[in-house]
Amino acid sequence: MPSPIPSSDAASLEALRASVLSTRGGAVDDSIPQLAEADPELFGVAVVRPTGEVVASGDSGHAFSIQSAVKPFLFALALADTGGAALDAVGIEPTGEAFDAIELEGGTGRPPNPMVNAGALLTAALVDGDTCDERTARILAGLGAFAGRELDYDREVSESEQLHGDRNHALAHLMRSEGSLEHTADDAVALYARACSVLVDTEALAVMGATLAFGGRNPVTGEQVVDARVARDVVSVMATCGVYDGSGRWMRGVGVPAKSSVSGAIVLSAPNRLGAAVFSPPIDEQGTSVRGAELSRRLSEEHDLHSFGFGG
Ligand code: GLN
Repeated sequence: MPSPIPSSDAASLEALRASVLSTRGGAVDDSIPQLAEADPELFGVAVVRPTGEVVASGDSGHAFSIQSAVKPFLFALALADTGGAALDAVGIEPTGEAFDAIELEGGTGRPPNPMVNAGALLTAALVDGDTCDERTARILAGLGAFAGRELDYDREVSESEQLHGDRNHALAHLMRSEGSLEHTADDAVALYARACSVLVDTEALAVMGATLAFGGRNPVTGEQVVDARVARDVVSVMATCGVYDGSGRWMRGVGVPAKSSVSGAIVLSAPNRLGAAVFSPPIDEQGTSVRGAELSRRLSEEHDLHSFGFGG
């Protein structure tokens, strides 16, 4: 049996990161100017143990917009705030489609999955609050509890997301026309854009992943942020659709529930073992950080984190 507490320390994590420096490929996302300006050489990693100890290496303190790595946490907050009713409002089947596919679930008109844009537009809209600003405040407070620190969003990034997010506008209008979105399309896109623009660093994101990995309890602050049942639901959906149309390959190769994002961050939640995050801006066609994926694979191998590892 592998030890429940991985024996990684700063030096071995640094060695792991160094071993991936020769991995090249992918390109920095250019969907908005702020992402296109990212330094492709930035490379950070952080791992959070069950004790709450954070081990980090490289550019782990560099701030970036969380982008789609926010989706598991929006789903968690929606589940918590609706007492589970969010599961009626959004599907959970893996889509096998790109993150911004203009597609709703056949028959129901619901978004197909909370890990793709349609679903995240909806889960953000389901959190508590009577206005877009109140829902923004709820999301910031909720994400802050997952991270164990106060978080805010980058106004310029969120403006840009709204200006360039034509597919998100289209999805919101489509859901509205199907009767699956209660708020206006503009409100839904504004809220989702703010959520994607929340500034984190690799260490904060790793703590967020760890909070899910340890059943909704933040191992750094000790706060039970969401019920264990909510964490179970969220991690299940990360495992099956967290890397969009790359989820099958991810599960085979890395074997750890995770969520990718176009900023080049990946958040990982290995149940009862560890939370982790990797940040390296160049991404592949599926929107997954190239170095981040390779580091995740090696981290999983080193600590026997694969969900179906069988020690082999
Ligand atoms: N800003 C992006 C969007 O919704 C987030 C996408 C992502 O990280 N995959 O279009």
